[in-house]
Amino acid sequence: MNQRGDVAITPEANRPRVAVVGAGPSGLYAVRSLLEAEVEVSVDVFDRLPAPYGLVRYGVAPDNQKMKSVIRVLRNSFDEHNDVRFLGNVSFGDDLTRADLQDCYDAIIYATGTQGERGLGIPGDELPGSYGAKEFVSWYCGHPDAAERDFLLHGPQVAVVGAGNVALDVARLLAKSTDEIAATDVPDRVLETFRNNRITDIHMLSRRGPAQAKFTPIELREMGELINADIIIDPAELELTPDEEKQVAADRRQRKNISLLREWAQRPLEGKPRRVHMRFRRSPVRILGESEIDGVVLERNTLLEDGKVRGTGEFETLDVHMMLAAVGYQAQPLPDVPFDHNTSTIPHKAGRVLNEDGSPEPGEYVAGWAKRGPTGVIGTNKNDAAETVRSLLEDLVERDLDTGRHDRKRVIRLLEQRGVDYIDWAGWLRLDTHETRLGQQQSRPRVKLPDLPSMLQSSRDSEPPR
Ligand SMILES: Cc1cc2nc3c(=O)[nH]c(=O)nc-3n(C[C@H](O)[C@H](O)[C@H](O)COP(=O)(O)OP(=O)(O)OC[C@H]3O[C@@H](n4cnc5c(N)ncnc54)[C@H](O)[C@@H]3O)c2cc1C
Repeated sequence: MNQRGDVAITPEANRPRVAVVGAGPSGLYAVRSLLEAEVEVSVDVFDRLPAPYGLVRYGVAPDNQKMKSVIRVLRNSFDEHNDVRFLGNVSFGDDLTRADLQDCYDAIIYATGTQGERGLGIPGDELPGSYGAKEFVSWYCGHPDAAERDFLLHGPQVAVVGAGNVALDVARLLAKSTDEIAATDVPDRVLETFRNNRITDIHMLSRRGPAQAKFTPIELREMGELINADIIIDPAELELTPDEEKQVAADRRQRKNISLLREWAQRPLEGKPRRVHMRFRRSPVRILGESEIDGVVLERNTLLEDGKVRGTGEFETLDVHMMLAAVGYQAQPLPDVPFDHNTSTIPHKAGRVLNEDGSPEPGEYVAGWAKRGPTGVIGTNKNDAAETVRSLLEDLVERDLDTGRHDRKRVIRLLEQRGVDYIDWAGWLRLDTHETRLGQQQSRPRVKLPDLPSMLQSSRDSEPPR
């Protein structure tokens, strides 16, 4: 139980100070775990963006507003606790260094997620028209990094590479009608692009077979319920080896996936305006074109016994003019913070950051995708962050810190000296209200402001426009 009840309360000045870098699910679940513990702490949560919630705001698909309701849980720590501050628009590595945080806090939790993504690495990949799904997702979610970006959805054919939920999100949004996109929170200019969506055929390409696909059944099922697109699957591509059949029978997720795919492969087409072709055991091996994409060459694959994939030498060409590769988000090193380049994560043991010789860096911790890589759903970050906070609290007791040494205003002075235009929680709430009001004016859940200057401006406005 928290000490705020009948147990003596630690004076504010003597509380251990914790910096959480990253206001995504893992950072905010870590804050909740800290608040639920029997130690009074004061917490500052930094994010390089003026808005909190990480990929809940900038990854979860805009047509999945139900999933975004997790925000109600994540925001509680700021709404209910004075000793938790949000400091947005503060970039670790640029505005504050590791040494600054070590100086101002007793413990640091890195919860910075992933900043980059893997590419296909095939000839022609650099041509305009070939993009990473992260670029596309950031754009339709209104991430300020994509403020200058635009996509032409001229079609008529597009390929989406990948066999996970991000590939499903991207293909589903491309398949949806303008009215369906208008019911989401995408920025106005993104909605405008979707109004001019001329795509008719979306080819989803999975390198392996249907039994190896990483889709989750709930997300996969939505593809079959699209009002604007038929699903086309060649039943021959769903054939499984006897071993695969056994594997599928033993795995609930795979069983459901295969059953959905087989049902759709038999379903008569309804002549809907768009078509989603789900292809398996196909890899793009070369992108065609001089100054932009003209097509993509696919090779048929076979799966070897050790699970590896081998090309069969049978090729076909798809006449696509855009290709989106959803083959994995990937973390990048944070300045001065240990990083494992093989796994693209911050090395750790139970959330304690490890240095090169494998020993823990005192007072430094990691949570979420920066800790375990880009796997799992939002909820997975809850237990993950709880483990990290358990380690941190054990160490706090062991380290017997001189916790009165840090002044809570020190980091603010540092930011002000450096001219950093940081945003506090009240600033974010003004921005949040502004976006929600813009949405109400158009009968939409919200309309996101997609660029930094307008986000900063509306976080300062005391009277958001009605
Ligand atoms: C496209 C996509 C769709 C998804 N859809 C779903 C879904 O529908 N349902 C579901 O359950 N899960 C979904 N997920 C997974 C879910 O989003 C992740 O599990 C979760 O967001 C990971 O949390 P995190 O806090 O580790 O990282 P993030 O959410 O990425 O948060 C990291 C935060 O750190 C900040 N940051 C990064 N670098 C710095 C820096 N240098 N200084 C300061 N701040 C920094 C970022 O701005 C960000 O706010 C989806 C993921 C993706 C990629």
